[in-house]
Amino acid sequence: MRGSQVLVTAGCLLVHCGGSMDGRVAVSSAEAQEPALPPTPTPPRAPEPCLVALAATGAQFEPARLTAAPAAMPGCGMREGVIVSRGPTGLEYRPPIEISCVFALTLPAIEETVRQVAATNLAEPIRLVRTMGSYGCRTIRSTRSPGRLSQHALGNAIDVGILEGASVHASVVRDFRADTSEGRFLRDLAAALRQAGSLERVLDPEYDAAHRNHFHLEGHPLAEAN
Ligand SMILES: [Zn+2]
Repeated sequence: MRGSQVLVTAGCLLVHCGGSMDGRVAVSSAEAQEPALPPTPTPPRAPEPCLVALAATGAQFEPARLTAAPAAMPGCGMREGVIVSRGPTGLEYRPPIEISCVFALTLPAIEETVRQVAATNLAEPIRLVRTMGSYGCRTIRSTRSPGRLSQHALGNAIDVGILEGASVHASVVRDFRADTSEGRFLRDLAAALRQAGSLERVLDPEYDAAHRNHFHLEGHPLAEAN
């Protein structure tokens, strides 16, 4: 009861229900007798600039709702998290990727690289990216830097296991070292993503055993991680 009263008061202050602009509301004695009005809806907030920019890319996404980081793992979290189900060029992410909005703005560049490398190596375009992880409050899995907070804990990385077209099925764990069009596609893709400069780091099965079955694609360091 007390909570709803606070909300009504806050709503009135935000939309200026009546009274003076300095927040003091003048209520006549007659009005004071009237039954309470239903709570005023909170006025819509202006969307964040990053979300506007991401929507302009054509990506399909929704805001992410995160639970608080566990006390034992401080530093996790995203300032503006989004769940992207389809990228700017129509690539489907399955399951959808939960990443920071700033990192999501690199998807146009990543997907353009995927398109180019597929056009060179495959008979058809990639339509589906099977992902193996995105946001996760955890430390680095690689044995090279144990204990350090992973970029996944900031929503600044995605793990990609398989890329598919209508009949193409390029699996990192199965095809990365194979002398097939899928193998060449995957090796060329890792190299091209490194060269393109839109990512801070691209780890593949050559890096270590923890990455034998996926590409780890990591964005440049985020200016603000909370
Ligand atoms: Zn990863």
